[in-house]
Amino acid sequence: MKGAQPLLALKVDVDTLRGTREGVPALVHALRHHRAGATFLFSVGPDHTGRALRRLLRPGFLRKVARTSVPLHYGLRTLLYGTLLPGPHIGRTCAAQMRAVQAAGFEVGLHSYDHVRWQDFVATRPAEWTRRELRRGFDAFGDVFGQAPQVHGAAGWQMNATAFEAEEAAGLRYGSDTRGTHPFRPVVGKAALACPQLPTTLPTLDELIGVDGLSLAGAATRLLELTRIAPATHHVFTLHAELEGMRLRSVLETLLVGWRTQGYRLVAMRAILDGLEPAALTAHRVELGTVPGRSGLLMIQGEALTAEPRDGGVRIASGRAQPKYRSRRKPRVRRIY
Ligand SMILES: [Zn+2]
Repeated sequence: MKGAQPLLALKVDVDTLRGTREGVPALVHALRHHRAGATFLFSVGPDHTGRALRRLLRPGFLRKVARTSVPLHYGLRTLLYGTLLPGPHIGRTCAAQMRAVQAAGFEVGLHSYDHVRWQDFVATRPAEWTRRELRRGFDAFGDVFGQAPQVHGAAGWQMNATAFEAEEAAGLRYGSDTRGTHPFRPVVGKAALACPQLPTTLPTLDELIGVDGLSLAGAATRLLELTRIAPATHHVFTLHAELEGMRLRSVLETLLVGWRTQGYRLVAMRAILDGLEPAALTAHRVELGTVPGRSGLLMIQGEALTAEPRDGGVRIASGRAQPKYRSRRKPRVRRIY
């Protein structure tokens, strides 16, 4: 990898009907203008964004709403889906828009079936629930694209053990369900799974804006500071159709120009995967942890494990792989890894 141009993959999470309809085409336009590749991960079932309002009861969420103007970004109508208004089925309503993204040469994958449902419940739901939700997502994705997804990027970086195993069983090429520093094979139970993880390696804009009084421009500057020295293992940046595709589009354009100036090639995640030998990747635990600027627990790349070929067991490698993310020793939810 030495000497090769560093890659920065753009992972676009699409959560809502409005994001699919308005944010996605605007992003496609902006990305083509900047000759950037990207991976679009779609929510293909009902838009129940309004039900996320129950998160108002959670600590930290109100602060985030105040910081990032959630109602402004998402629109009042979207906030009523699944509560006062029935949730529209995104895959059935926007199949043409989704296929147009693929036809324009971008990589496509599965974000969720029902974003709010997955994000709020998967951490505590049993295997059967998890497999059913994933199957619904695969089916609805197949209805849109006529093929199975090759990548899944979990809503809100929420996962459980079954979900990681199901990705492998479904023959996905890779998952991008975690926050971390570099590609790895996730360890669930005692085994490292073959389906690799390409974690998001940078903070999202909404995690930066408003924190420590950071303005929009300040958030972009902070991100460009973080990418000044390119890691040999490349970067994955997650953006949202509802944010960077709409009100934050000018900040995204600043970032795209900045990253190109820093020497990055802006690509879809599969471009990073193409340069990897998945079987040779280090195995890491996946665990619940926190990320600055985001409330609640999410799935992070934990400590590295190295296989002992002789007895087939695993031992813990020395050193911490995760300086940026704090792992939570006693998670609120059951620890299953
Ligand atoms: Zn999402």
